[in-house]
Amino acid sequence: MDIYFYNTLTRNKEIFKPIDEKEVRIYSCGPTVYKDATIGNMRTNIFQDVLRRVLRYNGYSLKHAMNITDVGHLVSDGDEGEDKILKSAKEEHKSPMEIAEYYTKLFFQDLEALNIETPEIVCKATDHIKDMLKYVEKLIENGYAYETSTAIYFDIAKLDQYPILSNVDLEEQKAGARVDIDPEKKNPYDFALWIKAPENHLMKWDSPWGPSYPGWHIECSAMGQKYLGDKFDIHTGGIDLIPTHHENEIAQSKGKCGKIPANYWMHGEYLLMNGGKMSKSLGNVYLIKDFIAKGYDPLVYRLFNYSCHYRNKLNFTWDGMEATSKSLERLKNGYQLHLNGKDKIEDKIVEEWEEKFHKAINDDLNMPAAMSIVWEVVRQEKKSPKLANLLARFDTVLGLKIEEPIAKQQEDIPQEILNLVEERKQARANKDWAKSDQLRDRIQRKGYEIKDSKEGTEIKKREYYIKENKMQ
Ligand code: AMP
Ligand code: ZN
Repeated sequence: MDIYFYNTLTRNKEIFKPIDEKEVRIYSCGPTVYKDATIGNMRTNIFQDVLRRVLRYNGYSLKHAMNITDVGHLVSDGDEGEDKILKSAKEEHKSPMEIAEYYTKLFFQDLEALNIETPEIVCKATDHIKDMLKYVEKLIENGYAYETSTAIYFDIAKLDQYPILSNVDLEEQKAGARVDIDPEKKNPYDFALWIKAPENHLMKWDSPWGPSYPGWHIECSAMGQKYLGDKFDIHTGGIDLIPTHHENEIAQSKGKCGKIPANYWMHGEYLLMNGGKMSKSLGNVYLIKDFIAKGYDPLVYRLFNYSCHYRNKLNFTWDGMEATSKSLERLKNGYQLHLNGKDKIEDKIVEEWEEKFHKAINDDLNMPAAMSIVWEVVRQEKKSPKLANLLARFDTVLGLKIEEPIAKQQEDIPQEILNLVEERKQARANKDWAKSDQLRDRIQRKGYEIKDSKEGTEIKKREYYIKENKMQ
């Protein structure tokens, strides 16, 4: 059956034709490991995991590479500000390596909790400094890069077309507020390939240009080419990567080998919080472990993602999570009922459902449409193991562990306590420490201990309170 993907490069839904008949090669821009991954970040990872699973459902094997950015991603996506890892290291009084290792570990824990497969190749930027250096040297040799007193820049004027992926009008933008900090740049949109390190910079490597470190975009070009070749099938990432990071990856690849590195560019839309942005200042940044603390199986969030197409904005609400939690339970119960059923179902009907599901997932990963078929099968009055098998096959794409009972929550924390914890989280986000302390006292008086750590907030029943209760 044909597969269709929306390709950001052509702005069209196109038939997918892989370079190799059997194996699909994919590159995904991975996390910058300087802070906890949010449930928003995880939306992008869920989309990428569904893509993997859909390709496998269609019989392809995969060679999927994902990078871990542990150097070079500056605070601004332009070439400005501090390195994100270094900034975080300073704030947390740790070494950059400790920061990167710590948040990498947490990132993979989140993937596991969401049943997201680890790509075949996971590659760390700091392990590929030599590959990146060679790439930059080749760009200079080909006449696409130049040196200034602070960096090696890519010269966008050398390209026949820039930008190519986004609709940005550079002239219009130039007239706007953007002010460049490096007057030696030939063009404000030239971007740094390699940055000369100031005296006290912690992460730096020897290079023909003295102690220095790579820019963010070069790592994906170098690692993508190393593991997947000059040309591979699909490049993925969040929608925010289109105008700068992916645009610049394409520029680099054209400068080095004259090719756009991937045939299909797929981008996931953002997760919104109650209709708006997720941000620390609004106190609405949630992590996967917040789901666990509130008693939700993280797979509920995975299912929640299927309520919306990956190219549309998805609005997160706790009411939505609650409703989806019940849906996941219904789905798993429905599977069990079919498994134990004795009714006869014609093979033809099963095949029809399978085909409808297959069509939906092949239509640019249309998960809302695929889920409507899943529910049709679950709700069938006739109960048959044939339908349980069909649901299990669907689950190779859904990744909801449909055959397993819903994960039991760690501890039942009453809703009243969870509400107080939430109120305290808001107070802390507003830096209202007095209110935060008052709320902690109230929580304690109600018999619950609350512990803040880097991993988040842990809530548990207070030991002595349990004893006191027993004595009554
Ligand atoms: P950040 O840590 O903010 O740089 O985000 C890392 C990547 O996660 C981004 O490049 C986005 O592609 C993705 N991402 C961040 N926030 C969201 C969100 N709210 N919804 C979906 N994806 C997101
Ligand atoms: Zn990238």
